[in-house]
Amino acid sequence: MVVVHTEGHPELTSKDNIGTGATGAPARDRTGSGGVVVRAGAEDTEGTGGQASTSGDGTLSSLKITALAGGVGAARLLRGMVEVVKPSNVTAIVNTADDTVLHGLHISPDLDTITYTLAGLVDVERGWGLSGESWTVMESLASLGGDTWFQLGDRDIATHMLRTDMLNRGMSLSAVTETLRMRHGIMTRILPMSDDRVQTRLTLAGSGEEIGFQEYFVKLAHSVEVGKIAYQGAGSAAAAPGVIEALEDADVIVICPSNPFLSIFPILALKDVKQALQGRQATMKAKTVAISPIIAGKALKGPADRLLVEMGVTANVAGVAGLYKDIASTLVMDDQDARLQDDIEAIGMRCVTTDTIMRDINASRALAREAIEAALETVSLARRGNNG
Ligand code: GDP
Ligand code: CA
Repeated sequence: MVVVHTEGHPELTSKDNIGTGATGAPARDRTGSGGVVVRAGAEDTEGTGGQASTSGDGTLSSLKITALAGGVGAARLLRGMVEVVKPSNVTAIVNTADDTVLHGLHISPDLDTITYTLAGLVDVERGWGLSGESWTVMESLASLGGDTWFQLGDRDIATHMLRTDMLNRGMSLSAVTETLRMRHGIMTRILPMSDDRVQTRLTLAGSGEEIGFQEYFVKLAHSVEVGKIAYQGAGSAAAAPGVIEALEDADVIVICPSNPFLSIFPILALKDVKQALQGRQATMKAKTVAISPIIAGKALKGPADRLLVEMGVTANVAGVAGLYKDIASTLVMDDQDARLQDDIEAIGMRCVTTDTIMRDINASRALAREAIEAALETVSLARRGNNG
């Protein structure tokens, strides 16, 4: 992978060959006063592992899992993950390069998608935002001639108000995120990748115009060709407190089936994260497993497949493997792509094929388990290799 660091702008160009468990649970009880709520993913007091113990597999539940996460694809995996592993043993390191300020409010789309999902509050159909949302504020804003291209639900706005207020009082984004997840009763740690501002900027292939992430993704509905992607500020941004420790302490690191260029690379653009993943610990790469967001050459949602092509990468699981081969020893790919297994093994990754479409919680749980088991096996093979 080629990441060019220019004045704090690690850049990728199209020439670079870049080699809750609250599901199904009753809706939580809202106090209406911002009080602490109990959710189904909360651990039992005996410490037997909450939902993890109900998975029927006690051996995985005590493992420490750290996930690199974007929004929807990651959230779908994590809701299953916290049923395989004790929720408090899971740490999500979440992309914040999509964050934006609109109407004076600080919006962190990926953090919110993960938080709402683990709280059992996400709109499952959409994959983001709150279920049962109303849109009165947007309607009023539209009638006053305000900008409404970025839709914010009424209840969702409360999150952004609270976050913005806490940030304005001097709290860090990680402290704010921690406060929000505690108020939702979530046991899983949710860490923003950085407390410093990092912004994904996209240069359009045709006009050469540079635009912000939300303008690309939401306003233009990602239907424009991209020539270059930059993670502005990443060169000088530090990983948020706890991020490096979570990577080093993890038994398994999972790269979620998130958009590689828009969700995972912004996290990897942080120097200390990249160093931690590539360095010091001999087992780091062996314990890291990536799950492909590309199935049969297509993203299930969003522009991940087109962006691969635009960045000079083949739009299939082998292209994804090439992106992660330096940091992950194992790739989990869909059964539909089994014929590419040899190509992927040829570049030095172990791969496992399974059903990777998380159509429901059972599929999410099974995929989480598969990914963890695959990584554990790679670690054990690496150990045996070293000993023998
Ligand atoms: P965003 O930040 O909300 O765009 O979400 P992510 O970056 O986390 O995830 C977007 C990616 O998730 C897309 O490329 C999808 O292909 C992928 N994705 C969504 N659902 C699934 C799924 O069930 N299985 C797999 N393998 N990938 C998925
Ligand atoms: Ca996102």
